[in-house]
Amino acid sequence: MVHRRKFIQSSALGSLGVLFSKIAAGSGGTVSIKGKPVVISTWDAGLEANKGAWEILGKGGRALDAVEKGVMVTEASQNCCVGLGANPDRDGYVTLDACIMDEFSNCGSVAFLERIKHPISVARRVMEKTPHVMLVGSGAQQFAVAEGFTLEEQKLSPEAQPAYEEWLKKSEYKSPLINVENKGHGPFAPYKLGNGEWNHDTIGMVAMDTFGNLSGSCTTSGAGFKMRGRLGDSPIIGAGLFVDNEVGACTATGQGEDVIRVAGSHSVVELMRQGLNPEAACKKIIERIARIKKEKAKNIQVAFLALNKQGIAGAYALHPGFSYAIKSGTKETLIKAKSYFKS
Ligand code: ASP
Repeated sequence: MVHRRKFIQSSALGSLGVLFSKIAAGSGGTVSIKGKPVVISTWDAGLEANKGAWEILGKGGRALDAVEKGVMVTEASQNCCVGLGANPDRDGYVTLDACIMDEFSNCGSVAFLERIKHPISVARRVMEKTPHVMLVGSGAQQFAVAEGFTLEEQKLSPEAQPAYEEWLKKSEYKSPLINVENKGHGPFAPYKLGNGEWNHDTIGMVAMDTFGNLSGSCTTSGAGFKMRGRLGDSPIIGAGLFVDNEVGACTATGQGEDVIRVAGSHSVVELMRQGLNPEAACKKIIERIARIKKEKAKNIQVAFLALNKQGIAGAYALHPGFSYAIKSGTKETLIKAKSYFKS
Protein backbone atom coordinates (compact mmCIF):
# COMPACT_ATOMS: atom_id res chain seq x y z
CA MET A 1 0.00 0.00 0.00
CA VAL A 2 2.65 2.44 1.09
CA HIS A 3 4.66 1.64 -1.99
CA ARG A 4 1.68 2.23 -4.21
CA ARG A 5 0.73 5.40 -2.45
CA LYS A 6 4.22 6.75 -2.86
CA PHE A 7 4.18 5.93 -6.52
CA ILE A 8 0.95 7.75 -7.10
CA GLN A 9 2.03 10.66 -4.97
CA SER A 10 5.26 11.16 -6.76
CA SER A 11 3.80 10.80 -10.22
CA ALA A 12 0.83 12.98 -9.36
CA LEU A 13 2.95 15.58 -7.65
CA GLY A 14 5.46 15.58 -10.45
CA SER A 15 2.94 16.53 -13.04
CA LEU A 16 0.47 18.39 -10.87
CA GLY A 17 2.50 20.24 -8.31
CA VAL A 18 2.42 23.38 -10.34
CA LEU A 19 -1.35 23.22 -10.43
CA PHE A 20 -2.11 23.41 -6.72
CA SER A 21 -2.43 27.17 -6.85
CA LYS A 22 -4.66 26.88 -9.88
CA ILE A 23 -6.92 24.45 -8.05
CA ALA A 24 -7.51 27.02 -5.36
CA ALA A 25 -7.89 29.79 -7.90
CA GLY A 26 -10.33 27.73 -9.88
CA SER A 27 -12.65 26.92 -6.98
CA GLY A 28 -16.31 27.69 -7.33
CA GLY A 29 -17.95 25.53 -9.92
CA THR A 30 -19.24 27.08 -13.10
CA VAL A 31 -16.94 28.14 -15.93
CA SER A 32 -18.09 29.94 -19.02
CA ILE A 33 -15.93 29.50 -22.08
CA LYS A 34 -16.03 32.15 -24.75
CA GLY A 35 -15.46 30.53 -28.08
CA LYS A 36 -14.88 26.95 -29.04
CA PRO A 37 -13.43 24.38 -28.69
CA VAL A 38 -13.41 23.21 -25.08
CA VAL A 39 -12.88 19.94 -23.23
CA ILE A 40 -13.71 19.00 -19.64
CA SER A 41 -12.98 15.82 -17.74
CA THR A 42 -13.23 14.34 -14.29
CA TRP A 43 -10.63 14.45 -11.53
CA ASP A 44 -7.03 15.62 -11.60
CA ALA A 45 -6.10 12.94 -14.16
CA GLY A 46 -8.31 14.96 -16.48
CA LEU A 47 -5.55 17.54 -16.86
CA GLU A 48 -3.36 15.12 -18.78
CA ALA A 49 -6.31 13.61 -20.60
CA ASN A 50 -7.44 17.05 -21.77
CA LYS A 51 -4.01 17.62 -23.27
CA GLY A 52 -4.48 14.47 -25.32
CA ALA A 53 -7.90 15.68 -26.45
CA TRP A 54 -6.46 19.06 -27.33
CA GLU A 55 -4.16 17.52 -29.90
CA ILE A 56 -7.32 16.98 -31.91
CA LEU A 57 -9.48 19.90 -30.80
CA GLY A 58 -6.70 22.47 -31.09
CA LYS A 59 -6.32 21.61 -34.77
CA GLY A 60 -10.00 22.00 -35.49
CA GLY A 61 -10.67 18.26 -35.24
CA ARG A 62 -13.87 16.47 -34.32
CA ALA A 63 -15.00 16.22 -30.69
CA LEU A 64 -15.52 12.47 -31.08
CA ASP A 65 -11.87 11.92 -31.99
CA ALA A 66 -10.81 14.20 -29.14
CA VAL A 67 -12.77 12.38 -26.43
CA GLU A 68 -11.40 9.04 -27.57
CA LYS A 69 -7.81 10.21 -27.71
CA GLY A 70 -8.09 12.15 -24.46
CA VAL A 71 -9.16 9.28 -22.24
CA MET A 72 -6.69 6.93 -23.89
CA VAL A 73 -4.03 8.93 -22.05
CA THR A 74 -5.55 7.85 -18.74
CA GLU A 75 -6.13 4.29 -19.89
CA ALA A 76 -2.43 4.02 -20.71
CA SER A 77 -1.25 5.57 -17.44
CA GLN A 78 -0.87 3.96 -14.04
CA ASN A 79 -4.18 4.70 -12.34
CA CYS A 80 -5.99 2.81 -9.59
CA CYS A 81 -9.29 3.00 -11.41
CA VAL A 82 -8.78 3.23 -15.16
CA GLY A 83 -7.03 0.89 -17.60
CA LEU A 84 -5.11 -2.32 -17.16
CA GLY A 85 -2.96 -0.96 -14.32
CA ALA A 86 -6.04 -0.57 -12.15
CA ASN A 87 -7.14 -2.49 -9.10
CA PRO A 88 -8.72 -5.87 -9.85
CA ASP A 89 -12.05 -7.33 -8.85
CA ARG A 90 -12.21 -9.48 -5.72
CA ASP A 91 -11.13 -12.54 -7.71
CA GLY A 92 -7.99 -10.78 -8.93
CA TYR A 93 -9.02 -9.84 -12.49
CA VAL A 94 -8.97 -6.32 -13.92
CA THR A 95 -12.23 -5.80 -15.80
CA LEU A 96 -12.84 -2.65 -17.79
CA ASP A 97 -15.92 -0.67 -18.79
CA ALA A 98 -16.15 2.18 -21.30
CA CYS A 99 -18.58 4.05 -23.49
CA ILE A 100 -18.57 6.80 -26.10
CA MET A 101 -21.29 8.96 -27.71
CA ASP A 102 -21.21 11.45 -30.57
CA GLU A 103 -23.17 14.42 -31.88
CA PHE A 104 -25.55 12.22 -33.87
CA SER A 105 -26.53 10.17 -30.79
CA ASN A 106 -24.46 7.27 -32.06
CA CYS A 107 -23.13 5.38 -29.10
CA GLY A 108 -21.01 2.35 -28.27
CA SER A 109 -20.06 0.57 -25.11
CA VAL A 110 -18.03 -2.32 -23.74
CA ALA A 111 -18.22 -3.80 -20.28
CA PHE A 112 -16.55 -6.53 -18.23
CA LEU A 113 -13.75 -6.47 -20.79
CA GLU A 114 -10.43 -8.07 -19.86
CA ARG A 115 -6.87 -7.77 -21.19
CA ILE A 116 -7.49 -4.93 -23.64
CA LYS A 117 -5.51 -1.73 -23.13
CA HIS A 118 -7.95 0.73 -24.69
CA PRO A 119 -11.56 -0.21 -24.00
CA ILE A 120 -12.68 3.23 -25.21
CA SER A 121 -11.46 2.43 -28.71
CA VAL A 122 -13.27 -0.90 -28.65
CA ALA A 123 -16.43 0.96 -27.58
CA ARG A 124 -15.99 3.23 -30.59
CA ARG A 125 -15.63 0.23 -32.89
CA VAL A 126 -18.83 -1.24 -31.43
CA MET A 127 -20.52 2.05 -32.30
CA GLU A 128 -19.11 2.27 -35.78
CA LYS A 129 -18.85 -1.32 -36.92
CA THR A 130 -21.71 -3.20 -35.36
CA PRO A 131 -25.48 -2.72 -35.32
CA HIS A 132 -25.28 -2.81 -31.50
CA VAL A 133 -24.59 -0.42 -28.66
CA MET A 134 -23.08 -2.75 -26.06
CA LEU A 135 -20.80 -5.77 -26.04
CA VAL A 136 -19.71 -7.41 -22.81
CA GLY A 137 -17.28 -9.93 -21.40
CA SER A 138 -15.73 -12.57 -23.62
CA GLY A 139 -17.86 -11.43 -26.57
CA ALA A 140 -16.45 -7.92 -26.30
CA GLN A 141 -12.95 -9.34 -26.04
CA GLN A 142 -13.50 -11.59 -29.04
CA PHE A 143 -14.73 -8.60 -31.04
CA ALA A 144 -11.72 -6.53 -29.95
CA VAL A 145 -9.26 -9.22 -31.03
CA ALA A 146 -11.07 -9.61 -34.36
CA GLU A 147 -10.68 -5.87 -34.81
CA GLY A 148 -6.93 -6.15 -34.30
CA PHE A 149 -6.58 -5.14 -30.65
CA THR A 150 -3.78 -6.93 -28.80
CA LEU A 151 -4.71 -9.35 -26.03
CA GLU A 152 -2.44 -8.16 -23.23
CA GLU A 153 -0.94 -10.36 -20.54
CA GLN A 154 -3.23 -11.17 -17.61
CA LYS A 155 -1.12 -9.68 -14.85
CA LEU A 156 -1.71 -7.13 -12.12
CA SER A 157 0.36 -3.96 -12.25
CA PRO A 158 3.11 -3.47 -9.65
CA GLU A 159 0.79 -1.04 -7.88
CA ALA A 160 -2.38 -3.11 -8.01
CA GLN A 161 -0.69 -6.35 -6.85
CA PRO A 162 0.20 -5.18 -3.32
CA ALA A 163 -3.12 -3.33 -3.01
CA TYR A 164 -4.93 -6.57 -3.84
CA GLU A 165 -2.78 -8.59 -1.43
CA GLU A 166 -3.60 -6.10 1.28
CA TRP A 167 -7.29 -6.37 0.50
CA LEU A 168 -7.10 -10.17 0.53
CA LYS A 169 -5.96 -10.16 4.17
CA LYS A 170 -9.50 -9.33 5.23
CA SER A 171 -11.30 -10.10 1.98
CA GLU A 172 -14.08 -8.03 3.37
CA TYR A 173 -16.68 -7.54 0.71
CA LYS A 174 -18.93 -4.56 1.01
CA SER A 175 -20.39 -2.15 -1.43
CA PRO A 176 -17.42 -0.02 -2.46
CA LEU A 177 -17.01 3.32 -0.79
CA ILE A 178 -15.41 5.68 -3.22
CA ASN A 179 -14.07 9.17 -3.50
CA VAL A 180 -15.04 10.57 -0.15
CA GLU A 181 -12.65 13.29 0.81
CA ASN A 182 -11.02 13.31 4.24
CA LYS A 183 -12.64 10.08 5.34
CA GLY A 184 -9.55 7.94 4.84
CA HIS A 185 -11.56 4.87 3.91
CA GLY A 186 -12.58 3.10 0.76
CA PRO A 187 -11.16 0.20 -1.14
CA PHE A 188 -8.21 2.11 -2.52
CA ALA A 189 -5.26 3.46 -0.61
CA PRO A 190 -6.11 7.14 -0.46
CA TYR A 191 -3.41 9.65 -1.19
CA LYS A 192 -3.08 13.29 -0.41
CA LEU A 193 -3.49 16.04 -2.89
CA GLY A 194 -3.73 19.56 -1.59
CA ASN A 195 -5.81 19.57 1.57
CA GLY A 196 -7.96 16.60 0.74
CA GLU A 197 -7.58 12.86 0.60
CA TRP A 198 -9.31 11.01 -2.12
CA ASN A 199 -8.91 8.47 -4.88
CA HIS A 200 -8.24 8.77 -8.53
CA ASP A 201 -11.24 7.55 -10.34
CA THR A 202 -13.19 7.02 -13.51
CA ILE A 203 -12.37 9.39 -16.31
CA GLY A 204 -15.38 10.94 -17.97
CA MET A 205 -14.79 13.51 -20.70
CA VAL A 206 -17.01 15.84 -22.68
CA ALA A 207 -15.84 18.07 -25.53
CA MET A 208 -17.21 20.67 -27.91
CA ASP A 209 -15.34 21.16 -31.18
CA THR A 210 -14.95 24.22 -33.42
CA PHE A 211 -18.17 23.26 -35.20
CA GLY A 212 -20.01 23.42 -31.89
CA ASN A 213 -20.61 19.67 -31.87
CA LEU A 214 -20.51 17.67 -28.66
CA SER A 215 -19.18 14.20 -27.87
CA GLY A 216 -18.34 12.33 -24.69
CA SER A 217 -16.43 9.33 -23.37
CA CYS A 218 -16.17 7.48 -20.09
CA THR A 219 -13.76 4.69 -19.08
CA THR A 220 -13.06 2.86 -15.84
CA SER A 221 -12.10 -0.35 -14.11
CA GLY A 222 -15.06 0.29 -11.82
CA ALA A 223 -14.78 -0.02 -8.10
CA GLY A 224 -11.70 -1.85 -6.83
CA PHE A 225 -12.24 -5.37 -5.42
CA LYS A 226 -15.79 -5.36 -6.70
CA MET A 227 -17.80 -8.55 -7.02
CA ARG A 228 -16.83 -10.39 -10.20
CA GLY A 229 -19.17 -9.39 -13.00
CA ARG A 230 -20.27 -6.17 -11.35
CA LEU A 231 -20.90 -3.23 -13.68
CA GLY A 232 -21.26 0.32 -12.57
CA ASP A 233 -22.67 3.28 -14.41
CA SER A 234 -19.66 4.05 -16.59
CA PRO A 235 -20.44 1.83 -19.61
CA ILE A 236 -24.14 2.60 -19.50
CA ILE A 237 -25.35 5.28 -21.88
CA GLY A 238 -27.62 7.61 -19.91
CA ALA A 239 -25.98 6.75 -16.60
CA GLY A 240 -22.21 7.32 -16.86
CA LEU A 241 -22.50 9.42 -20.01
CA PHE A 242 -25.08 11.16 -22.15
CA VAL A 243 -24.76 13.54 -25.08
CA ASP A 244 -27.53 15.50 -26.77
CA ASN A 245 -26.05 17.74 -29.40
CA GLU A 246 -28.96 20.22 -29.16
CA VAL A 247 -28.62 20.70 -25.42
CA GLY A 248 -25.40 19.54 -23.81
CA ALA A 249 -23.59 16.55 -22.38
CA CYS A 250 -22.89 15.05 -18.99
CA THR A 251 -20.67 12.40 -17.43
CA ALA A 252 -20.62 10.87 -13.97
CA THR A 253 -18.21 9.44 -11.46
CA GLY A 254 -18.58 7.89 -8.04
CA GLN A 255 -20.73 5.06 -6.85
CA GLY A 256 -22.16 3.71 -10.07
CA GLU A 257 -25.13 1.93 -8.52
CA ASP A 258 -26.49 5.26 -7.34
CA VAL A 259 -25.91 6.93 -10.69
CA ILE A 260 -27.78 4.16 -12.50
CA ARG A 261 -30.72 4.49 -10.07
CA VAL A 262 -31.46 8.00 -11.31
CA ALA A 263 -30.29 7.57 -14.94
CA GLY A 264 -27.83 10.23 -13.84
CA SER A 265 -26.22 11.74 -16.92
CA HIS A 266 -29.41 11.61 -18.95
CA SER A 267 -31.33 13.26 -16.13
CA VAL A 268 -28.79 16.10 -15.95
CA VAL A 269 -29.06 16.70 -19.71
CA GLU A 270 -32.86 16.72 -19.53
CA LEU A 271 -32.73 19.37 -16.80
CA MET A 272 -30.42 21.45 -19.00
CA ARG A 273 -33.01 21.09 -21.76
CA GLN A 274 -35.52 22.63 -19.39
CA GLY A 275 -33.25 25.64 -18.97
CA LEU A 276 -31.07 24.86 -15.97
CA ASN A 277 -27.40 25.71 -16.25
CA PRO A 278 -24.99 22.76 -15.97
CA GLU A 279 -24.11 23.23 -12.32
CA ALA A 280 -27.75 23.67 -11.29
CA ALA A 281 -28.74 20.58 -13.29
CA CYS A 282 -25.98 18.49 -11.70
CA LYS A 283 -26.97 19.78 -8.26
CA LYS A 284 -30.63 18.77 -8.69
CA ILE A 285 -29.68 15.18 -9.50
CA ILE A 286 -27.18 15.02 -6.64
CA GLU A 287 -29.97 16.24 -4.34
CA ARG A 288 -32.22 13.52 -5.71
CA ILE A 289 -29.59 10.90 -4.89
CA ALA A 290 -29.19 12.36 -1.41
CA ARG A 291 -32.96 12.13 -0.87
CA ILE A 292 -33.06 8.53 -2.05
CA LYS A 293 -30.02 7.39 -0.05
CA LYS A 294 -30.90 9.25 3.16
CA GLU A 295 -28.33 8.47 5.88
CA LYS A 296 -26.33 6.30 3.50
CA ALA A 297 -25.53 9.33 1.36
CA LYS A 298 -22.91 10.20 3.98
CA ASN A 299 -20.79 7.24 2.95
CA ILE A 300 -20.82 7.40 -0.80
CA GLN A 301 -19.56 9.83 -3.37
CA VAL A 302 -21.24 10.73 -6.65
CA ALA A 303 -20.37 13.63 -8.95
CA PHE A 304 -21.69 14.92 -12.26
CA LEU A 305 -19.86 17.07 -14.77
CA ALA A 306 -21.72 18.80 -17.60
CA LEU A 307 -21.24 21.16 -20.52
CA ASN A 308 -24.02 22.93 -22.35
CA LYS A 309 -24.26 24.05 -25.95
CA GLN A 310 -23.30 27.58 -24.92
CA GLY A 311 -19.93 26.40 -23.64
CA ILE A 312 -20.79 26.68 -19.96
CA ALA A 313 -19.27 23.94 -17.81
CA GLY A 314 -20.50 23.01 -14.35
CA ALA A 315 -20.33 20.20 -11.84
CA TYR A 316 -21.74 19.15 -8.49
CA ALA A 317 -20.80 16.38 -6.09
CA LEU A 318 -22.29 14.74 -3.04
CA HIS A 319 -19.13 15.33 -0.99
CA PRO A 320 -16.22 17.76 -1.20
CA GLY A 321 -13.18 16.49 -3.07
CA PHE A 322 -14.42 16.26 -6.62
CA SER A 323 -12.58 18.39 -9.12
CA TYR A 324 -12.66 18.61 -12.88
CA ALA A 325 -10.17 19.68 -15.48
CA ILE A 326 -11.01 22.15 -18.22
CA LYS A 327 -9.07 23.15 -21.29
CA SER A 328 -9.88 25.69 -23.97
CA GLY A 329 -7.87 28.08 -26.11
CA THR A 330 -7.55 30.42 -23.13
CA LYS A 331 -7.90 28.25 -20.06
CA GLU A 332 -6.27 25.15 -18.61
CA THR A 333 -7.05 24.45 -15.00
CA LEU A 334 -8.53 22.20 -12.36
CA ILE A 335 -11.75 23.37 -10.74
CA LYS A 336 -13.15 22.27 -7.41
CA ALA A 337 -16.81 21.40 -7.61
CA LYS A 338 -19.32 22.48 -5.01
CA SER A 339 -20.95 19.74 -3.00
CA TYR A 340 -24.13 18.81 -1.16
CA PHE A 341 -22.29 18.00 2.06
CA LYS A 342 -19.90 20.73 2.99
CA SER A 343 -17.29 18.70 4.86
N1 ASP B 1 -18.55 5.10 -11.52
C1 ASP B 1 -17.60 4.04 -11.44
C2 ASP B 1 -18.29 2.76 -11.11
O1 ASP B 1 -19.19 2.76 -10.32
C3 ASP B 1 -16.51 4.23 -10.46
C4 ASP B 1 -16.22 5.62 -10.07
O2 ASP B 1 -16.36 6.55 -10.83
O3 ASP B 1 -15.83 5.81 -8.92
O4 ASP B 1 -17.87 1.74 -11.62
